[in-house]
Amino acid sequence: MTAQADENYRWSKVLNDCQIGAWEVDPSQQSLHVSAICAEILEISSARSVPLYAAKRLFASPFDRIFARNVELLVDSKQEFEETLSLLSGNWVQIRGRAVCQQGQQKLYRFCGSLELVSRFAQESCIQFSADSGDLYRYLFRDAPMPMFIWENETLNMIDCNRQALLKYGYSREEFLQLNLRDIGYPEDFSVLKVDAGSVDTLGDQERKVWRHRNKAGDHLLVKVTGHRVDLAGKKCSMVLIQDITGRLEAEEQLLESLKELSDYRFALDAACLVMILDKDKQVVYLNQKFQKISGFDKESIEQASLKILYQESDRELIASCWDTVMAGNIWRGELRGRKRRGGSFWADTVVIPFRDNQARVYQYIWVGYDITQKKRGDEALAKERSLLRAIIDNLPIQIYVKDAAGRHIINNKYQYEDLLGAKSEWETLGKTVFDYFPEEIAAGMDAYDRKIVEEGVPVMNVEEFYYDREGKQVWLLTNKVPLKDAKGKVVGLVGMSRDVTDRKIREENLNRLNEELESKARALERSNQELEQFAYIASHDLQEPLGMITGFLGLLEKRYESVLDEKGKEFIFYAVDGASRMKNIIMDLLAYSRVGRIEEKVKELAIAEVITNILRLHKELIKQKRAEVTVGTFPVLRVPVAPIQQVFQNLISNALKYQDSGKVPKILVGAEERENFWEFYVRDNGIGIPRGVQDRVFQLFTRLHAKDQFSGSGIGLAMSKKIIENIGGTIGFHSEVGKGSTFYFTVPKTIQ
Ligand code: ADP
Repeated sequence: MTAQADENYRWSKVLNDCQIGAWEVDPSQQSLHVSAICAEILEISSARSVPLYAAKRLFASPFDRIFARNVELLVDSKQEFEETLSLLSGNWVQIRGRAVCQQGQQKLYRFCGSLELVSRFAQESCIQFSADSGDLYRYLFRDAPMPMFIWENETLNMIDCNRQALLKYGYSREEFLQLNLRDIGYPEDFSVLKVDAGSVDTLGDQERKVWRHRNKAGDHLLVKVTGHRVDLAGKKCSMVLIQDITGRLEAEEQLLESLKELSDYRFALDAACLVMILDKDKQVVYLNQKFQKISGFDKESIEQASLKILYQESDRELIASCWDTVMAGNIWRGELRGRKRRGGSFWADTVVIPFRDNQARVYQYIWVGYDITQKKRGDEALAKERSLLRAIIDNLPIQIYVKDAAGRHIINNKYQYEDLLGAKSEWETLGKTVFDYFPEEIAAGMDAYDRKIVEEGVPVMNVEEFYYDREGKQVWLLTNKVPLKDAKGKVVGLVGMSRDVTDRKIREENLNRLNEELESKARALERSNQELEQFAYIASHDLQEPLGMITGFLGLLEKRYESVLDEKGKEFIFYAVDGASRMKNIIMDLLAYSRVGRIEEKVKELAIAEVITNILRLHKELIKQKRAEVTVGTFPVLRVPVAPIQQVFQNLISNALKYQDSGKVPKILVGAEERENFWEFYVRDNGIGIPRGVQDRVFQLFTRLHAKDQFSGSGIGLAMSKKIIENIGGTIGFHSEVGKGSTFYFTVPKTIQ
């Protein structure tokens, strides 16, 4: 016996034991081959092969046509079928058919199926009904194992039903026969029914559709309908066989639903998480796409290298504790760092769940991780940033601190905890308040100040406060305090920044003291200057009178006693008069000097050229005598205090004429140059010049750089000129070289206040 034959034999035996018949259609011969059981059920025990047309006749009408049509569709369209049909004998059979592809030959089919007996016809009924109607289908109808009923096509009124129909639809026979098809069906189905009611074939086709019916209680039934047209007492009727598939469809739907739900969960898990399933020996049995994508490892590469490849050596202890937990049958949760195949790492918020079998033995572990690499990187960056910030605030030379609403220290930078609070670490100071560090009264003041900021929520900037340090030294702080707010804007504390400004404060205090001293000295100086000027004025003014007397009486003496005076006597009187006249000059100059600034001079328009001309006219004799060459430039008209300006020009021009070597022709240039806000005037000579070593004394009062017998003078002219020019807001100076000459220059503002 070949293996194939053996196999066939085995299966035919199984079918035999189950009392299930088998059949096969031979389309070429138009015949039906049947197994022994099948022949027995069909009651054709003598023959194992019957022509198809004869097989059709074995079924009661209208099932004969249903059978024939199904076989036709099977052969032509390879359309499977499953029907419950009635045989002529009145027995009900379930028949299934399908096209099977022949082994190794794709396009060749065998058309075969099964047949089993589902209900045996009761002989006595047959006899009873046979007498009444003579129609076999009536008997089939009554005892059919499935609901059947008949309606009149025209009215759709029910005219008959079997027991199964009454059971299915929940009516009594009387009630059912009062029904119309509309009472158990749905309106949308009737249009189809009405059109098709006359056609057996179409009605037959309707079995492919699922119809909705309802029973007496109003419950929905989903049914397949096998129908056929019959004539009863001259009326066109439809007889239908109902197959209730509600339960099957519901079960199918539920199954589909739960499968879908499951696949939804799985999809969601796969899309969101890294999933790895390990068997009890820690062998990877499943690795989802996401795990593979993130780690870069696939199942095979982990199998080859062991699980160790997935984590770093430094995390060994953590992994070990995870295993300990899950192997004891408990769930482990935590953040794990995984290694990537191409280097680097990923972080997963992980749950490892052990699964147990019936004997409570762990047979599988499921590792589910949520990728938190980005978050971790963010955390790390944040931590780095924090430590950087911390390093910055610890190294800033200011005290930085954060307090909560109750005034307890939350953060203190190094400068604050070390220098101000005298602590060794920030930790020591946390949770403490100013009362822990400062004397009661100072602490109370600080605390009240802090509370105000917290209560009012208003920053306080640039406040100078002081306290006494541990050595009792006064320390000054410049402080800014701002309220610290939470995300909702509620004040939960304050941030303070204080800078030690003790040094600056001491410097400021010293400076203030110095300023005060300076001011009082200046006041004293001014007072003494005023007194001096007063004295100079009084002295020069009061001296004039006795001096006048001396000069007058000397004149009288010389005049009246000229005859009795010898040469020596006359010489003495000459010197006495000369001395008195020089003294008079000095006194006059001193008087003029002391007047400068004391007497308010009116500002008037003055043509400077005219001033120069007048002065030169005054010195006409001397110029002539010395044959001096005086060159004069062009001059502006200015609004100035007239007499003082005349005095300055007079002093400078007369000095230029005076301080000349005898026998040398004096060359003098008087000029003016306009600048942006002022005029600059100069008097240049080719005189004896001023030695470099004494130049800084030139403008001092009573300075005389030359012997009085060489050049006469009082040493007041330049000092007075300086005083005048500075009084009107100008400057005065000179350049000079011994033997070459000097240039004196001064400026006059265009506008004098
Ligand atoms: P005096 O009445 O002595 O001229 P001044 O105050 O005018 O007093 O001058 C002070 C001194 O400056 C003079 O004594 C003189 O020695 C020196 N001096 C002033 N002008 C000139 C000048 N043009 N050339 C050289 N020396 C000068």
